[in-house]
Amino acid sequence: MEQSCNLANDRLFAVPLPARYGHGMHSRALFVAAALAAASPSFAAGPMGAEWAIAIHGGAGVISRTGISAEDDKAIRAALAEALDAGAQILKSGGSSTDAVVAAVSRLETSPWFNAGIGAVLTSAGTVELDAAIMDGASQGAGAVTGVTTTLSPIALARTLMDKGPHVFLAGPATDAYARTHQLTQVPNSHFVTERRLKQLQDLRQRNQGASLSLPAELRMGTVGAVARDVNGNLAAGTSTGGLTGKSPGRVGDAPVIGAGTLADNRCLALSATGSGEMFIRARVASQICDRSRFGGQPLQQAADEVLAEVKAMGGDGGVILLPPKGEPLFAFNSAGMYRGRASGSGLHEIKVYGDE
Ligand code: ASP
Repeated sequence: MEQSCNLANDRLFAVPLPARYGHGMHSRALFVAAALAAASPSFAAGPMGAEWAIAIHGGAGVISRTGISAEDDKAIRAALAEALDAGAQILKSGGSSTDAVVAAVSRLETSPWFNAGIGAVLTSAGTVELDAAIMDGASQGAGAVTGVTTTLSPIALARTLMDKGPHVFLAGPATDAYARTHQLTQVPNSHFVTERRLKQLQDLRQRNQGASLSLPAELRMGTVGAVARDVNGNLAAGTSTGGLTGKSPGRVGDAPVIGAGTLADNRCLALSATGSGEMFIRARVASQICDRSRFGGQPLQQAADEVLAEVKAMGGDGGVILLPPKGEPLFAFNSAGMYRGRASGSGLHEIKVYGDE
């Protein structure tokens, strides 16, 4: 019974959406969702529809109770909760997982607490270069950008690229040029720079750490991401970051690399990663976790834990948030903590910071 209901929903929502659906198609799907929701009060979480779910992260690393003041802890949790709730609200009212991911990630991009958008870390040249990616698990449409310098919301830019194409991955000045063509808000690069990040770069220069790969983890924390499943059972994932403090201009991390730091595929998972990007790329973190589950039958939690152990063995740290096609969102990290939150139609709603929470 449940199976046939889900199939009916699939036919109504998931299947007819073309690989790059425009807003017209999307609002029609929303309209049908709203009509169905009215006809069946149990639509949002009942057996006829998939259960919506969302998880977010704001970076992973050396996060300890002694290193964060009670006041900062409170402010960070409030920023995470605001982003989580923005995404959850969209899912609750029948909106798409892609819209929910953009809503959550774009809020975190505007919060100076995190290493994305405003408050992003600085390159060795003292500039901000932003990376972002988004993927839709139903169509496997994707948009990825690296080296963004003036576009206010890199996740909105990635989404525009996913929806409007013609390419999947843009780099360097082409990203902001594409954003201007599509009327996305532009700001001076200095708009992203905060006192805190300037000080971190100065500290790094003083410590003369050299290559950014050997950076202490606290200097690169704060990448943001979200994964969501809507009431049609469609998954989406998005990640946005400034990368590593003191990185070389032109360096690309794992966040915009589809299959490394970002992946959504309705057949296995939606995933967003944070951590030592070079190792996450080399371990093909997202693809490997998906494939272990899809082809090897491994439970996702176990697959994620094992792949993160591989990353650790390479000398990297960090974590992932992931969402299975059915069931609650999962977290996995090999670092002391991860800023994270999750919510779902079952009533789950939590924000966590430290590893032992
Ligand atoms: N993964 C990001 C990067 O390497 C950094 C982070 O998540 O802290 O660009």
